[in-house]
Amino acid sequence: MKLVRLIANLGYGSRKQVALMFREGRITDPDGEVLYADDKVGHADVRIDGEPLDPPAGLVLMLHKPTGYTCSTRDPGRIVFDLLPPRFRLRSPALSPVGRLDRETSGLLLMTDDGALLHRIISPKSKLAKVYEARLAGDLRGDEGATFASGGLMLESETTPLAPATLQALAPRHARLSLTEGRYHQVRRMFAAVGNHVEALHRSRIGGLELGDLGEGQWRPLHAADLDRLF
Ligand code: URA
Repeated sequence: MKLVRLIANLGYGSRKQVALMFREGRITDPDGEVLYADDKVGHADVRIDGEPLDPPAGLVLMLHKPTGYTCSTRDPGRIVFDLLPPRFRLRSPALSPVGRLDRETSGLLLMTDDGALLHRIISPKSKLAKVYEARLAGDLRGDEGATFASGGLMLESETTPLAPATLQALAPRHARLSLTEGRYHQVRRMFAAVGNHVEALHRSRIGGLELGDLGEGQWRPLHAADLDRLF
């Protein structure tokens, strides 16, 4: 594949824009030698502004989603793609959020172009824990943990009961909840079902993966070691 097409497919720009990047000398080999649009060079030997190219497939990012952003691409308001370089939305295939966080939920959001990986993470069959911290309007009663762990809780307008979930009380109005499913507004609806109300919600962990020192609104690519920690 011609270099100009390869780079355009990764979302760095239209072919016209990528051709301009060549003319500006921004596309080089690893030693900084300027490359030309017709050069026959492999993906691994190309740098843009000194940085290696994104992988052509199997890209996974972690984003620390702030509140106020939706995971949809169609929302007229702020969307998570606004926090990322445009190439991640323009590449083919584009990145998709791995499961959704509500607009008012913050925390760990994965994004990938890898459909099989996405399915493996969100499928309840893989039993991957998604851990949330909830700030509540009312004090915990003390029996919520048993209700959530029972695996029998039926949410309004659902036809199957929830899988067992683990609750840890951190303070009278602060709880950590570990789920293996991702139903619509699940955490908020679970607390509503036991007579409480979630005032603030944050996802702190997926499998063995945490945000670490990634600040709100920041992102980073995941590497093989991160993926090992995930499952
Ligand atoms: N549960 C919710 O209620 N909201 C989220 O964003 C994620 C899980």
